[in-house]
Amino acid sequence: MRYVRGEVAILRRPIDFGAPPRIHFDFYGNTYSRPEGEKDTLTGYMNTDPGKTTPRHEFAESLPAATVRDLRTRLSKRFPRMMDAQPRGGWSGAYDVTPDSYPIVDRIGPDGLFVAVGFSGHGFKLCPEIGRLLAEYVATEKRPEPLVPLRASRFEEKQLVRADAPFPGGRRRRIP
Ligand SMILES: Cc1cc2nc3c(=O)[nH]c(=O)nc-3n(C[C@H](O)[C@H](O)[C@H](O)COP(=O)(O)OP(=O)(O)OC[C@H]3O[C@@H](n4cnc5c(N)ncnc54)[C@H](O)[C@@H]3O)c2cc1C
Repeated sequence: MRYVRGEVAILRRPIDFGAPPRIHFDFYGNTYSRPEGEKDTLTGYMNTDPGKTTPRHEFAESLPAATVRDLRTRLSKRFPRMMDAQPRGGWSGAYDVTPDSYPIVDRIGPDGLFVAVGFSGHGFKLCPEIGRLLAEYVATEKRPEPLVPLRASRFEEKQLVRADAPFPGGRRRRIP
């Protein structure tokens, strides 16, 4: 398991910006954004640079000013008025990234311990189905079929998960 840092900046929109989009993803400009409260926009990088791998996973409650400026410049390629947005701070979190960028959902260690970890930046959207499958595993003590590829031993067995339809396409690995 390793950690890849993901930065998030808060920008106060200029008052003439108008209604902000509910969400935007820009794979070319490498940013996403969404409204944060009434007046602000939250923005971060789409594609977290594997070079930001860190052995530590502490939460950082501030961002370097240069990172905030970089995010603002990227965002303003799509929303030019955002060039005048006022920085309102930011933070960085850690993506917990496994070697194949898929989670580990398994029964490990002491009797009765089940884990769902290593979501590699996809934990929110996967959680309803993972929760259902894990509850079934705990209640029946029988591993549901969809959890077989997510077993912890797959790394030693060199049976990494491979997506049928990787996204985005191409050879270069996108993390997370
Ligand atoms: C910047 C960023 C953007 C993301 N964007 C998305 C997204 O768009 N879509 C998506 O699907 N996923 C996204 N993710 C990933 C998602 O946030 C995680 O996969 C998800 O939150 C993992 O949930 P979790 O419950 O497994 O762990 P966590 O949310 O990390 O919860 C673990 C909890 O355990 C607590 N804890 C830790 N150690 C102890 C201890 N010893 N005792 C007691 N409590 C402890 C922690 O404080 C924390 O509250 C993003 C992550 C980051 C960092």
